[in-house]
Amino acid sequence: MPISEPCAEELDRILRYLDGELAEPLCRELERHLAECPRCHTVFHTLRRTIELCRRYGRIPMPEEARERLLEAMRRAEAAEGHERP
Ligand SMILES: [Zn+2]
Repeated sequence: MPISEPCAEELDRILRYLDGELAEPLCRELERHLAECPRCHTVFHTLRRTIELCRRYGRIPMPEEARERLLEAMRRAEAAEGHERP
């Protein structure tokens, strides 16, 4: 499969996914795309790591609620990867 699209729509989804704002059916779609698109897969992991580092160094002040939702989304993403299951 040629990767010619910039996957801009996917990037938007990834950001919202990481923010815990993506609706469930779209999460499934994104997960499917991530499995098929190595570039988006890399972007996803890079972004997640970046967000993790930002949290650690406290560069991005985040309201408590947003932080909680982000953590939730990250846990969900982790579970989707099959590393961890509740
Ligand atoms: Zn893609």
